[in-house]
Amino acid sequence: MTQTVLAIGAHPDDVEFMAAGALALLRQKGWEVHTASLTPGDCGTMTRTREEISRIRRAEGAAAAGLLGGTYYCLECDDMFILYDRPALLKVIGLIRRVRPDLVFAPSPDDYMADHENTSRLVWNACFAAGIPNIPTPGDEPFHRIPCLYYMDPVDAKDKYGVPTPADAMVDISAVLYIKTRMLACHASQRDWLLAHHGVDEYLDAMKRHGRLRGRQANCEFAEAFRQHRGHSFPLDNLLTKELGDLVRTAR
Ligand SMILES: [Zn+2]
Repeated sequence: MTQTVLAIGAHPDDVEFMAAGALALLRQKGWEVHTASLTPGDCGTMTRTREEISRIRRAEGAAAAGLLGGTYYCLECDDMFILYDRPALLKVIGLIRRVRPDLVFAPSPDDYMADHENTSRLVWNACFAAGIPNIPTPGDEPFHRIPCLYYMDPVDAKDKYGVPTPADAMVDISAVLYIKTRMLACHASQRDWLLAHHGVDEYLDAMKRHGRLRGRQANCEFAEAFRQHRGHSFPLDNLLTKELGDLVRTAR
């Protein structure tokens, strides 16, 4: 049976930065790939209206997912205002029920901005709540299997106090870096902004610097790092290692 991965970020390019390599490798193993962002990234501009930039960034997210034959979803929360509240949690529960994933990637619970941290908490609790019948989400049936949940790296692989984030699964993405680069480059509205501002291709360079940093720790050229949610009721088997074998270095 085809297995399914769902990567959820706060903003349209978050999962491309932190998990596109692992997504590409899972795709090569025959997995179905879905990506999502809670917001359309409507604050990611200095010049366009919220409506204009949202339209552009939804299309960029869909194009990036499309490179893996995948589907992108936007949950239409507001950029900079993602709250852990009932409406947002219901949206994420509905998404989990629709996609019915075996494996979920979420933002780090400790990251540089609250949108990421609140998304992390929403995804964790939506994975748990998706099977509860007394939480209705019209059009989507309860999903009774709690998926394997992994947290992606925070920006700079550091928490908001500047402390390096531990990882328990480092995925060697060297062989698919070119796919990850193409996926990230789909987010041209963000890349061009930084290009104009810095005069160098900071958008793609930052991703590669991060990959090299984790790669040094994992004894390969480029790596992505993940931390598995191992709390009560979540599956403990390391699905990433099971699927990707030697490409995954575990710290445990
Ligand atoms: Zn973000």
